Amino acid sequence: MDYLVTGMAENKFRLVAISGKDTVEEARIRHNLSHTATAALGRTLLGAGLLASSFKSKYERILLQFRGDGPISPLIAIADRFINVKGYCENPKTELDLNASGKLDVGKAVGLGMLYVIREREEYEPYRGTVPIQTGEIGDDLAYYLKTSEQIPSAVGVGVLVDGSGFVRSAAGILVQVMPGATENDITEMEERLLELGSLSHRFDRGETPVSLLDQLFTNWTKLEERPVRFSCDCSKERFQKGLISLGSEELSDLIKKGEAIETICRFCNKQYLFTVDEMKGFLKKA
Ligand SMILES: [Zn+2]
Repeated sequence: MDYLVTGMAENKFRLVAISGKDTVEEARIRHNLSHTATAALGRTLLGAGLLASSFKSKYERILLQFRGDGPISPLIAIADRFINVKGYCENPKTELDLNASGKLDVGKAVGLGMLYVIREREEYEPYRGTVPIQTGEIGDDLAYYLKTSEQIPSAVGVGVLVDGSGFVRSAAGILVQVMPGATENDITEMEERLLELGSLSHRFDRGETPVSLLDQLFTNWTKLEERPVRFSCDCSKERFQKGLISLGSEELSDLIKKGEAIETICRFCNKQYLFTVDEMKGFLKKA
């Protein structure tokens, strides 16, 4: 089962590590994702989960939207306080050649453009941040967003390992946020240790866990919380029903005249909801 662990390294760094193999595999199956799309959407889902780890309020959630000029964009993920994550990309069939490092070319698939972030919280105006996409590799872009938009210097690493048949072998991420107690020297050392770690997804494929990963990085850290992580969508037939009713009586009548059931699909989880002509006639009274 997937989960994330939060912690503190003295008063210097806030830490979050996530394992998300089942979550990303679920996204792959639901959206029938290519290898490249599995890595791209998977990293974005992991990133949304990492950023949602600080939420306290029940209704708090974060939306990440990568709008680049690559074939997979836009790439969208949402995570809530309970680390329910969901998301989709425009073109799930996108497949590109491996990049120069022999990795799935997420950067090219996403392309350059803008990253939009929206944080929603009940009774508050949503917080909106927009930054230019730096590399499209997701982790770099989220770190850049946190530093420039939220003024929290951070390191973000997210990785997904896909096998030859497209199955997710591992999915992992880490977020290290610099706290006021960290000196320049602490930060440099932390960055060096992060670089030395190498590929997170390969480490998790060999049995690394969120806790053992943080143990590798920090000799003196305290675990604060553990939260389960899952792919989960809160869509329902009622919600799509409301959408149909909101079309108004004229458009509903046109749909009914066609005499065919209407199929609606949730973009986030690909679930289909079917509405019969008789159901639609019932909606006319409410429209
Ligand atoms: Zn859904």
